[in-house]
Amino acid sequence: MGIIKAKNLIYNYIRRDEEEKVEEISEAVKDVSLDIEEGEFVAVLGHNGSGKSTLAKHMNALLLPSEGTIWIGGMDTKNDESLLEVRRLAGMVFQNPDNQIIASVVEEDVGFGPENMGVPTDEIWRRVDECLKAVGMTAYRQSSPDRLSGGQKQRVAIAGVMAMEPRCIVLDEPTAMLDPNGRREVIRTVRELNKKKGITVILITHYMEEVIHADRIYVMDEGEIAMEGTPEEIFSRVDELKALRLDVPQVTELAYGLRNKGVPLSPCILDIEGLVRELIEIRRQRTAP
Ligand code: ADP
Ligand code: MG
Repeated sequence: MGIIKAKNLIYNYIRRDEEEKVEEISEAVKDVSLDIEEGEFVAVLGHNGSGKSTLAKHMNALLLPSEGTIWIGGMDTKNDESLLEVRRLAGMVFQNPDNQIIASVVEEDVGFGPENMGVPTDEIWRRVDECLKAVGMTAYRQSSPDRLSGGQKQRVAIAGVMAMEPRCIVLDEPTAMLDPNGRREVIRTVRELNKKKGITVILITHYMEEVIHADRIYVMDEGEIAMEGTPEEIFSRVDELKALRLDVPQVTELAYGLRNKGVPLSPCILDIEGLVRELIEIRRQRTAP
């Protein structure tokens, strides 16, 4: 069993009126089964309302399944006794860093989680040092979070989660409120945590260009997993992605069209530079003596 495993997971939001009568049921997650191995970098793609956040909240027991089961590190989240252990194992990073940063000095903010967990002071400072370094924010340790850019704040929020030493980090659209630079910083940071520290990463996003380095991608639609595969596999199914209302980058679509016409391009082309580089290489090979 992987570090996160769900079997026939169903979640319904139920709205009730004043007399507790059910007014509306919204089936947010319909029947999701998945299995994520420790150390994997998994991306979850899907348009708005496809159930990504609802699924994410099951990964650290913020929500419990209406039906079916989810195990985190082998623990069934419905089991009350494992709640703390589940939360410790799987850290969450949300969209808005402002809602996650509590302290008025960066280093204190990063130390807040372990302090709450009763970690000894020496060890807290060791972790603060290490985590700020890992996200490239050591130079700002004495700064006020208010003075940081969105991308920097989000990196501090990630350091704060890391300081609790989770085995797995679930990031729910962590770049949605950032500019392109901030987005790149955050994605680079997350990739490094995965590669260097072996932390399992679940990255939820609706930006296709952020998932190219994932080991595996799940695409959600209407509460279900509509597609699963490596980036190469997923990106070579452009028509299906568009049918699922995902924004396929124009250049990816162009490369897809060219591939269908027999130009030997790789499926994961996401920017003009990548396309140009490959076209030049193909031309070089064709004109080589
Ligand atoms: P995503 O993160 O992919 O945008 P969500 O998991 O937030 O999707 O939402 C999935 C579905 O559940 C949507 O139809 C949404 O309207 C509904 N939903 C989400 N949160 C609530 C809630 N608190 N109460 C009722 N319905 C909700
Ligand atoms: Mg969401």
